[in-house]
Amino acid sequence: MEVLVKPNDDGSCLIAISGAINEYSSKQFQRALRDVVGINMVEIDLGHVDVMNSIGSMYWSDLLRSLCKTSTVRLINCSINMMGSLGRMPALLQSAKIVSFHVPYSCPQCRRIFSFCMSADQLGENDFPEVNCDKCSTLSEPEIDFDDYAFFREKTK
Ligand SMILES: [Zn+2]
Repeated sequence: MEVLVKPNDDGSCLIAISGAINEYSSKQFQRALRDVVGINMVEIDLGHVDVMNSIGSMYWSDLLRSLCKTSTVRLINCSINMMGSLGRMPALLQSAKIVSFHVPYSCPQCRRIFSFCMSADQLGENDFPEVNCDKCSTLSEPEIDFDDYAFFREKTK
C-alpha cells in the first residue's frame, strides 16, 4: 500500500491511497493522520485501492473515525473493489461522504469491460447513467446491480 498526502491550494488536503489495505496499513495511516492535523477538509482518493481485507478494514475504520472527528471527509474515485467492501459494511463509511466512484460497464459491441468514474450526482433515482464504450462509442450496460451501490445514496446527499 502507498499513501500520499498532498496539500491543495484551497487549504484542504488530499490523501491518495493505492494498493492493498491490510495488516501492514496501520503505520502509514497513522502518519497520514499526523500530516492532516488541523485540516478542515480532507479528500481521500481511493481510485487505486485493489483490495481491503478484514484487518485492513479495522485500520481504515480507525483512520476515518479520527478524521471525521475534526474534518469533513470526502471519498473520491472509489475503486470498484473499495465500493464492494463499503457496500458489504456501510458502517465503514463513518460520516464520510462518497463524492465519486467507479462502475464497471460492458460493451455489447466489442465486449470490452471498462470502468467508468462518475460523480454521485450523476446517479439516477433507480439507475446508473447511460455510458458509451470508450473504444467504439456503443451504448454500454452496467455490470452490476444498482442496488449494490444504493447503500451510500443517503451518504451523498
Ligand atoms: Zn465497444
